[in-house]
Amino acid sequence: MQLVFATNNPNKIKEVQSLVPEYIKLLSLADILCIEDIPETTGTIEGNAKQKADYIKTHYGYDCFADDTGLEVEALNGVPGVDTAHYAGPQRNANDNMDKLLKNLEDKPNRNAQFITVIALHLNGNYYEFTGICKGEITKSKQGEKGFGYDPIFRPEGYEHTFAQIDLELKNKIGHRGLAVKQLIKFLNSYS
Ligand code: IMP
Repeated sequence: MQLVFATNNPNKIKEVQSLVPEYIKLLSLADILCIEDIPETTGTIEGNAKQKADYIKTHYGYDCFADDTGLEVEALNGVPGVDTAHYAGPQRNANDNMDKLLKNLEDKPNRNAQFITVIALHLNGNYYEFTGICKGEITKSKQGEKGFGYDPIFRPEGYEHTFAQIDLELKNKIGHRGLAVKQLIKFLNSYS
C-alpha cells in the first residue's frame, strides 16, 4: 500500500515512519513533487487536517493522509489551538512561540494543557478521521533538547519530564500524534 503523508515537517515524518508497518510505503510531499504551500485556512484543527488531505487528493490524485496538531491551554480558553504554529507571529518560530506562551501563563496557577492531533485520510474514495489527545501541563521554563515545537515546555500527565527530555519511543507511545497514528494503522491493518 502506498500513501502520501502530506507534510513537509521531517520530524513528523520521522515520528510516523517509525510507527508504520513495512507494507505501507510512505511518500512525502517532495516525493510527489508538491512544493507549494498547502492552505490551512478553515479555523479549526479538524478542518485544516481535512483541507490538507483534500488538497493532495484533488490536485495530485494520491491516497493520502494529513495531520494537524494544536496545543490547547486551559487557562487561556483553548488558545493557541488552531493558531499553535504561528502563535507568536508568521515566522512560525518555536522559541518565540514558547516564550509567548510562558509569558502569557506567568501569573496563571492553572497550567493544564493538551495536545490534539487530527489525522485526515483519503483511501479508495472514502474519507476517515482519527484523533489523538495527550493531556499534560506547561512547565515554567524550557527543559530538554529533543523533539520539536513546544516539546521543551510540555510535560505529559503522569510523567516528570517534558516531551523534549524523553525518547521518541516513549513520546510516540503516549503522545497525541502517536495515539492518532496508532488508530490509523489499526484501521489500515483491518482494511487490507
Ligand atoms: P502543525 O500540525 O504542523 O500545524 O503543528 C502546529 C504547531 O504545533 C507547530 O507549531 C508545531 O511545532 C506544534 N507541534 C505539533 N506537534 C507537536 C509535538 O509533537 N510537540 C510539540 N509541538 C508540536
